[in-house]
Amino acid sequence: MANRPTVTESLHELTRNMWWCWHPEVWQIFESVDPGLWRETKQNPVAFLQRIDDEQLAERVGVGPLASRIRQAVRRMRNYVGAAGPRTNMAAGPLHRAPVVYFCAEFGLHESLPIYSGGLGVLAGDHLKAASDLGVPLVGVGLFYAEGYFEQGIDDEGNQLEFYGRTDVDALSIRKRVGDDGSPMVIEVPIEDRSVAMHVWQAQVGRSTLLLLDCDIDANPPADRQLTTQLYGGDQQTRIRQEVLLGVGGVKLLERLELRPGVFHLNEGHSAFATLQLCARLMETEQIPFEEAKNRVAKKTVFTTHTPVEAGHDRFRPEMIDRALGGLRERLGLDLRRFHGLGRVDMDDPDEPFCMTVLAMKMSDFRNGVSHIHGRVSRRMWRGLWPNRRQSEVPIGHVTNGIHVSSFLAPQMKALFDRHLGVGWMQQIEHPETWEGVADIDPGELWEIHQGLKARLLDFVDRRVQQQTAPSGDGDGQVVPGSGMRQDILTVGFARRFATYKRADLIMRDIDRFRRMVNDADRPIQIIYAGKAHPADEPGQQLLRRIVEKTTDPDFAGRVVFLADYDLNIARYLLQGVDLWLNNPRRPQEACGTSGQKAVYNGVLNCSVLDGWYAEGYDGANGFAIGDGRELNDTLRQDELDLRGLYRVFETQVIPLYYHLDDDGLRRRWIERMKWALLSLGWRYNARRMMLDYLHEAYLPAVGATMNRGG
Ligand SMILES: *Cc1c(COP(=O)(O)O)cnc(C)c1O
Repeated sequence: MANRPTVTESLHELTRNMWWCWHPEVWQIFESVDPGLWRETKQNPVAFLQRIDDEQLAERVGVGPLASRIRQAVRRMRNYVGAAGPRTNMAAGPLHRAPVVYFCAEFGLHESLPIYSGGLGVLAGDHLKAASDLGVPLVGVGLFYAEGYFEQGIDDEGNQLEFYGRTDVDALSIRKRVGDDGSPMVIEVPIEDRSVAMHVWQAQVGRSTLLLLDCDIDANPPADRQLTTQLYGGDQQTRIRQEVLLGVGGVKLLERLELRPGVFHLNEGHSAFATLQLCARLMETEQIPFEEAKNRVAKKTVFTTHTPVEAGHDRFRPEMIDRALGGLRERLGLDLRRFHGLGRVDMDDPDEPFCMTVLAMKMSDFRNGVSHIHGRVSRRMWRGLWPNRRQSEVPIGHVTNGIHVSSFLAPQMKALFDRHLGVGWMQQIEHPETWEGVADIDPGELWEIHQGLKARLLDFVDRRVQQQTAPSGDGDGQVVPGSGMRQDILTVGFARRFATYKRADLIMRDIDRFRRMVNDADRPIQIIYAGKAHPADEPGQQLLRRIVEKTTDPDFAGRVVFLADYDLNIARYLLQGVDLWLNNPRRPQEACGTSGQKAVYNGVLNCSVLDGWYAEGYDGANGFAIGDGRELNDTLRQDELDLRGLYRVFETQVIPLYYHLDDDGLRRRWIERMKWALLSLGWRYNARRMMLDYLHEAYLPAVGATMNRGG
C-alpha cells in the first residue's frame, strides 16, 4: 500500500491527540516497549518517544503483535475523532454552529500536564473528555502555567517541601497556535495601565479543544512574564491579574479565533470577568445600553459554583478591581457604585469586598451547585442576592458531578465489565439497566481481580516509599526497606488536598484507639495517605506533619504510609487498589467530592460522611456511612461526634465485614457489597450522566433549543 505510515509514525500519531490519556491499552503498548523508560517518563508518551533510541524502537515495534496493536489503536483513534457521534450528538445540534466554551482556572487531564491542583481541575478535565465522548461541541479555555502546581517533597521532620520545575513543553501533546503568517498568535489584554501579551497553547482532547493562555513570552517585561507561571501561587495581586487574563483574555481569544459560542460555562468564579468583556463588546458593536447587554450575556451564561467554604470564593478590595480591569468600567459606562455593585450582595455597602462568585451569579441565568446538598447550601449561602424570594426559590439548582470512567477504571475491571455488561456498556453507562449484569459476576472472580489490583498498588507503594526515603549522598549500599504493607490486611486509602475541613487526621485523634485498631492481632488495618497542602495553608501543613510523623513511629510503621506528591497517577493506583476509601469532611463543606466515585467503579467501597454526592448515593448497603448527617454549629463538638461515628462504623461494620470469611474462605458479604455499590451507583456518578444533565438543563436551553430528553 502506498503511503502507509510506518509503525513508528503511527506511534507518533497516537501522541498528538490527548485521546491516549484515557486509553490504557495505548499505555500498555509503550509499557511493553520499555517498562523502565515508561515509568521514568511518568507515563508520558511524548517524552517516551523523545528519549527512546529510534533504531531500538523500530526494531521493537516494527513487526509482530505490537505492530498490529499500534495499528489497531490508531484506527480506533481516527474513528473516534472523526466519528459523527451517537444520537446525543444530534441532540446537541444547535451547539455545532455555536459550541460551548468552558472556562476554568485549572484542567487535570493527565499527570504529565500539571496544571491542576485538585478536584476542580480533574473535574474540568473529565468534562472535556465527556463532551468529546458524547459529541457535544466544547472548547475549554484556561491558563498555561509553565511551572504548574508545585511538586511536593517531605523532609525528615515531616515538613512539606515545595518544588517548582518548568514543564518541558516539547514533551507535551500541545502546540502553539499560529496566526496566518505562521508566527505565534498573540492576544493582548489591557491590565492596569498597560497591556499584557499572551501566546496560546492548544491541546486536542479527543474531539474537544483546550486553549491555554500563556504570558511567559519575550514581548512582556519580566514581571508580567511571571503572571501565569504558577497555579494558585503568589498573592492577591497575582490572583486578580490571572483572573483578568483568563476572563478578559479568554473572550478576546475567542474573538480572535472568530469562534461564536452558543454557551459560556464559567466553572468556578475565577473566570467571571469574561462576562464584563462580553458586555463591553456587545455594547460597542450593537450600540446597546449595559442592562440590555447584561441580559443577553446572562441568557447564554452557565455558572457552576464549587464550594461552600468561604475562603474558596475570591474577594478583592474594589479599588483592586478598578485598577486591574484597566478601562473596562468606562467601556461599560458604569459609575463606581454600579460597577462595584456587580460583585456585592449589598450594592450600597462600601465595606463589602468585590466577590467573583457574586459577579458570576449576577451575570448568568443558569446557576448550579455540584450535588443535591450543595445546591441547597448554595441557596442558603447566596439568598441575599434575591432578597424578595424564599430560600427554596433562590434560582440556584444542582448538577451532581461525575467522573470520566475510562480515565480511572482499571483495565482489568473494564475487561470484567466488557464480559458482563454487554458491548457498548460505556455508551449506556447512565442507564440503571446497563448495570444489571453485575449481579451475575462471580464473587470469586471479582475478588481475584481486586486482589491483583491491590498487589499492584502495594508494589507501587513499596517503590515510592523506597524512593522517598532513599538516603541522598553517603548512603551507598544501604538497603532501603519497602513500606511493609501486607496484602492480607484491610487497606484504607485517604488522598485529597490537605484542606483542613477534609480532616485527614480525624481517624487518629484518639490515638490509643487508633493504635489498637491498627495493631489488632486478628483484624488489623493499614492506611495509605497522599495529598498536598496549599503552600500558604499552615494548618493544612500541620495536619500533614501529624500524619507523616506516624509513618516513622514504631507503633505505626508499616501500617501508616504517606506517599509524597499526590497526582493523577497516584490517584489511579490508590483508587483501583485499596479495599476502602475514607472520606470524612466536615459537613456540609464537601460540595461534591469525586474521588469516592472513582473508587466505586473499581469495586472499592466508600466509608464516608454523608456529604456531597455520597449523601444522595448511599442507601445503607452500598458502602458505609460515618454518622447520620447531623450538623452541629460547634466545630469541636461536630468533630467529636464524627470521630465517634467513624470508630463505631469501623469497629462494628467495616472490620467485621471485611474479615468475615465464608466456609469456602471467600469474603462473600464484603464482595456482595462491592457488587451492590456498582449496581446502585455505577449508572449515576459518571461524567456522561453529568454532561447529559448540563446539556439538557443548561446548554440547550441557553441556545434556545427545546429538546426531548431520552429517546
Ligand atoms: C479525584 C481527584 C481529586 C478530588 O478528590 P476529592 O476526594 O473529591 O477531594 C483530587 N486530586 C486528584 C489527583 C484526583 O484524581
